[in-house]
Amino acid sequence: MVVVTDADRRVTWVNQTYTAVTGWTLDEVRGLPAGARTHGPLTDKRVTEQLGNTLRQGRSVSGVEVVNYRKSGEPYTLLLNIEPVRNIDREVIAYFSIQMDVTERRKLEKSNAQLQYHLQAAQRLLKLGLVKFDRVTQQLKWTSEINEIFEIDKSTTGGSLGDLRKFVAIEALPELQERIDKSLATGEEFDHDFPIVTTNGHRRWVRVCGVPERQDRNWRGPETWTIQDISVYKELYEQKRLNNEKLRIMVGERTTRLEEANRSLEVFSHALSHDLKKPVRHMASFSEIVKSSIVAGDVDAAMVYCDKVISAGNRLSSLIDGMLAFSRLGRKGIHCCMVDMRKLTTECIGEVSASFPSQAFTASGVDDLPVVWADPVLTREVWSNLLDNAFKYSGMREVTCLNFASVESVDGWTLSIRDNGLGIEAGDALDIFGMFTRVDADASISGDGIGLAMCKRIIQSHGGRIWVESAQQEGSTFCVYLPRTAPSSGFGEI
Ligand code: ADP
Repeated sequence: MVVVTDADRRVTWVNQTYTAVTGWTLDEVRGLPAGARTHGPLTDKRVTEQLGNTLRQGRSVSGVEVVNYRKSGEPYTLLLNIEPVRNIDREVIAYFSIQMDVTERRKLEKSNAQLQYHLQAAQRLLKLGLVKFDRVTQQLKWTSEINEIFEIDKSTTGGSLGDLRKFVAIEALPELQERIDKSLATGEEFDHDFPIVTTNGHRRWVRVCGVPERQDRNWRGPETWTIQDISVYKELYEQKRLNNEKLRIMVGERTTRLEEANRSLEVFSHALSHDLKKPVRHMASFSEIVKSSIVAGDVDAAMVYCDKVISAGNRLSSLIDGMLAFSRLGRKGIHCCMVDMRKLTTECIGEVSASFPSQAFTASGVDDLPVVWADPVLTREVWSNLLDNAFKYSGMREVTCLNFASVESVDGWTLSIRDNGLGIEAGDALDIFGMFTRVDADASISGDGIGLAMCKRIIQSHGGRIWVESAQQEGSTFCVYLPRTAPSSGFGEI
């Protein structure tokens, strides 16, 4: 824009650009003091006054910025250069002013400055350093973040490629070289994470990025590289990976347990229908015989079959009791404490042997039993069951010989009860811990096949194991392993 004023700084001429920028025509501003139309609230009074003073002293003004207003009322930033025009007597007769609308430029400059500020802040926050490679000198220049990342003295702001390369952890070098070669061969962006060892010996992870540049038909290394410290991110990532791994294992274990539970549920329901049906079927058919015996007047036969109906009923009731006891276990949860197995065994022997009054027995090893970390109520249940079986399945011996023993290992105790009963064939040894499983050879000895299933469930809930070592007719040894780290309480999955 060009504005010409007289010596009193009243406008005498403006060019068309002035009208295009401000919206004011020559007729609208001619004769008015300069700025009369264009000054407004944001125009800095001090600047315009100083500008007036300078001009009055006959001096020129250059590069002064003021906010002016267009005819539309919109403010704009003006860059002013004003030159006094003199006659041959050196008197000022006019002012010649060249003005430039720098609004856009200032806006851009401001936004650039803001951008730069944000970039620097982001760079600092992201621990992102910039490295510039000078192809002529073959030297690097870097920003202060690089000094922080590599723990290089602040006074060093550049160096050779080798100066940075020496920080790369030795094991990461081959892959790094491979990646660089690949990027230079294909022109692909270089983006690689690798460990470094800083000046002070700290191990860190950095991410280095750069885009190769075209040179004729080939690629050459980037001039600008970014190096970011990603140690924290790596740590978190590693933590997350470990957590995921743990989670995967946990889910796997849970799935296995669920599958096991499902399988045992199937076996259980199969056994349930089979074993419960048997006495019911017997009761029905024996009752038929009782009926026909009465019709035939054979009271003795009727009485015999009545007894059979009664014993089938008793069997049914005992089966139901056992099942209820088994299912109640699931709701108990376990509560561990130190359990003195010597005391517990002595009490159990007293109670169980009372149910076998005519059976002579000896018990050895009780005094050497240890104190273990277990649920006292549930452990008593296991021990009573095992003892009851030991008495029951050695009834044919003149004297039942019981031997108790314990072996301590690094992580727990193995307790055992040996009897001199009829023993178990190797092939049956695993099955007997299943629900309703009985060995055929024992048909003469009453039982429901629930006790050992219950023992297994209790011991497993302690994180332990139960098994039998036996040979037929040579007695059986039931072993229970209890880990030292059994859960203290609430392990509800009995
Ligand atoms: P039950 O004794 O009521 O049949 P259990 O679950 O306690 O049920 O035992 C399952 C089976 O294991 C028994 O039927 C028996 O065949 C076998 N068994 C358990 N304990 C002994 C033992 N001490 N000696 C020989 N066999 C045993």
